[in-house]
Amino acid sequence: MFTSPAPVVDPLLGAQVGSYKILKLLGTGGMGSVYLAEHSGIGSRAAIKFLHEHLASNPDLVQRFYSEARSVNVIGHANIVSIFDMNVLPPNRYYLVMEYLEGRSLESLVQQGPMPLARAVPILVQVCDALEAAHEAGIVHRDLKPENLILVKRGRQEDFVKVFDFGIAKLASTVSNRKTATGMIIGTPDYMAPEQASGEPVDSRTDQYSLGVIAYELATGKTPFAGLPITAMLVAHLTQEPRPPHEVNPAVSRAVSMVILKALAKKPDARFANAGDFGRALELALKESESTGSGVLVAVPVEPAALRATPAPADSVLSRVTPAHGGVVMAPRHVTRFDVQVQGEQGGVQTLPCQDVSRAGCFVCSTGTLPRVFSRVKVTLPSVGALLGDVVRHVTVDQAAAWNMPQGFGVQFVNVKPEQREGLDRLTHSLPVAPTEPQPPVSQADDPLVEKLLADVRKRIQGDHYVVLGLPPDADIPLVKSRGRELSSQLGELGKRQVSDGQLKQIAAAQDRLRQAVEVLGNPVKRAEFDGLRFNWKGVLVCLSAGLRATELEEIRKRFLKANDGTEARVSLHLMTVDAHERDGHIADAFRLVEHALNIDPLNLALHHRRKALLKRTPQAR
Ligand code: ADP
Ligand code: MG
Repeated sequence: MFTSPAPVVDPLLGAQVGSYKILKLLGTGGMGSVYLAEHSGIGSRAAIKFLHEHLASNPDLVQRFYSEARSVNVIGHANIVSIFDMNVLPPNRYYLVMEYLEGRSLESLVQQGPMPLARAVPILVQVCDALEAAHEAGIVHRDLKPENLILVKRGRQEDFVKVFDFGIAKLASTVSNRKTATGMIIGTPDYMAPEQASGEPVDSRTDQYSLGVIAYELATGKTPFAGLPITAMLVAHLTQEPRPPHEVNPAVSRAVSMVILKALAKKPDARFANAGDFGRALELALKESESTGSGVLVAVPVEPAALRATPAPADSVLSRVTPAHGGVVMAPRHVTRFDVQVQGEQGGVQTLPCQDVSRAGCFVCSTGTLPRVFSRVKVTLPSVGALLGDVVRHVTVDQAAAWNMPQGFGVQFVNVKPEQREGLDRLTHSLPVAPTEPQPPVSQADDPLVEKLLADVRKRIQGDHYVVLGLPPDADIPLVKSRGRELSSQLGELGKRQVSDGQLKQIAAAQDRLRQAVEVLGNPVKRAEFDGLRFNWKGVLVCLSAGLRATELEEIRKRFLKANDGTEARVSLHLMTVDAHERDGHIADAFRLVEHALNIDPLNLALHHRRKALLKRTPQAR
């Protein structure tokens, strides 16, 4: 008689691990097994990943399992799986407690053939955002592939991406270099970058290549070298140019196709400077192809060299980063506070002071009840509009006292659109970096009329030079000077009245502030520097007509480019489309796009010339 083998009982099933009860096995990978678990007290679900027992004997490896998990949490990005806890079940079952991801792995979707770009691009952009945040924190995934991307439903959003298996990938590479690696599943080489295939050092651009392969696969239904045996595939990654996606699938626009090929460049230097730029280029290319109607072809040059971005200096990304609230990566700190409207999940809108705004997020000061960590909030910022964000950190009363900072919560923005990102850039650049002076109290001795006038002056001197003078961004230099004289003599008149000492001091301070504004806006060199910081190309144009020399402009722009990574890559993309519009005789469209490019790169002389030439051909464009 035949007897079936006794079923192997998994001792973890039903076991109690910390506060969690293990319910079922979700999946097994090379590094560990992942189980669904339920919190015994509150019933919430989590995924628990146990490091394989046979890998646990290496303390070095266990250490890295944990330290990587920690760094992943430092990134604290909404599109990266959160890890809540890490621990060991004695004697040697090491585990991580993670957020349970209930959704579809991207792998199951790519098997269904090409995905429409309108769906694929937003998915890819989320991965780019996640990668950008990880890379800025110095973490490289190294094993990006569709099976490590899960799409979950979040609110009304169907395709919310979660990247996981981070860090573990780094761990995996340590393991596979060792002889003990027997039994390790070596991943598919489909997504492997040339530098990985040849064993050279990997960096953030390695992830970009892997994501490029995923983009290629979503666009065409197959990876670039699909079907080749393993060794041939590795060689192909190193030496063979992939067939352009728009040739494989005519539904793919040429613009999107070019962007994907750039991420797939053999040399890391020839790829985008960072994952964020890759994402922005994809968005832009999609937008362009949608706006041309058919969605099939966009006239851009096929010459891939035209896409070549200037590689970022090796340390430029990291040197900009100052870790701040709960892993939100912040650009230079802007301590200045201003009011924002915050709406939490409960729906009530509150006006709260906000500080430390960057592209990534902001810090909202609040002494009241704080919204739950990981909950969604809507933050409405002046001149940017409403942004969605996740609460990533609380600063409690005690912490606030200990760190000498306000009480409140850190918000990390999610799904920031390119226009909003530009708005954020403009906003952060226009904020003074120092805290604003408190308002002086009104005293008995003050002249009430003067006080009324001074109140307005005080408000304006908080603003930038244009606000101080009450002038538009394209005010010419004679106007700047005459307005300065006019305001100064008005202040002088005020000073002749019966004013208090306090008011006299304020008048003097306002005169000082006026002088500064005129000194900058009235001088083409200083003003161009200032306008660059504010992305005010109209002001730069004024400086050029007032005699700013090309060499002076170039010097200023050099500093600007250093502070604004990826500018040239973004502009070169715009220019390809400008060329196409011009060739097709769509001069007004070309003109509009050049002005858009100037918003990104306001000090670019060639762009100013290009705009002028187009303007001559379209007097009605203005
Ligand atoms: P390995 O590093 O060993 O490859 P993975 O992290 O890829 O392990 O996990 C193995 C499998 O477990 C995955 O393919 C996925 O199906 C499942 N899994 C992993 N993490 C989660 C999670 N947080 N929620 C739900 N399922 C998960
Ligand atoms: Mg895996």
